Amino acid sequence: MPIIHILNCFSKSLPWPPHREIGAVCLLAETNQGLLLVDTGLGLHDYEKPARMMRDFMRVMRAVKDPELAAVRQVTRLGWKPTDVRHIILTHLHLDHAGGLPDFPKAQVHVYRREYEAYLHPRKILEVAYNQADFAHGPQWNLHELHNEKWYDFDAIRLPGIEPEAWLVLLTGHTSGHCGVALRNGPGWIFCCGDSVPVNLQFDFVSVMLYRPTIGPHVPRLKAFSEAHPEIRILAGHMWLDWFKKEGSQ
Ligand SMILES: [Zn+2]
Repeated sequence: MPIIHILNCFSKSLPWPPHREIGAVCLLAETNQGLLLVDTGLGLHDYEKPARMMRDFMRVMRAVKDPELAAVRQVTRLGWKPTDVRHIILTHLHLDHAGGLPDFPKAQVHVYRREYEAYLHPRKILEVAYNQADFAHGPQWNLHELHNEKWYDFDAIRLPGIEPEAWLVLLTGHTSGHCGVALRNGPGWIFCCGDSVPVNLQFDFVSVMLYRPTIGPHVPRLKAFSEAHPEIRILAGHMWLDWFKKEGSQ
């Protein structure tokens, strides 16, 4: 069974709900191919020398400006080298999910091809939130296409050459190529839904209405899926900071 660490690589607090700090989920899995990271949160360059859009974003989001939250620092604290991270799978390329890419320039970066195309040719309002500085180093892109595969009943892409299994699960809407990421975890799975669900998987009516304009159409299906599959550990891309503390992460 792989060991999967749950990291928080970016803390923020929104005006609503008040007094609730929110972390950004990154998964660090020990696989047969070395370390694998799912999403990266913010990178060192964001904390230490942010681009203008990141500075504005951090101000609006009331971000915690602590470079120790960067995935690369957490990987080092856990006793590995940054080059031990061989694969990075991204739910999408937004600045708070892909910011850590420059800290792992040798890693193979896996993303749904439509997401990469959305970054090149943004069409939706939320597709302005791609930060060029995250990609200036020339990531080792692995762009994946859909080929009639399913993970449960979701259209999905099994990533080749990664064991235990890792899947990009299509949950488009937040951005044109947004995906969830499912990692095999012994007999079960851990499934990060990224920004296709409300913070902390709040499936109550008010939260769903509040987040609806930004998360796409998948909430009813994911809510039913989570109820039908208690053996699958489902996470949102952003969870309450208290939740991370309970998990033993930062
Ligand atoms: Zn996003």
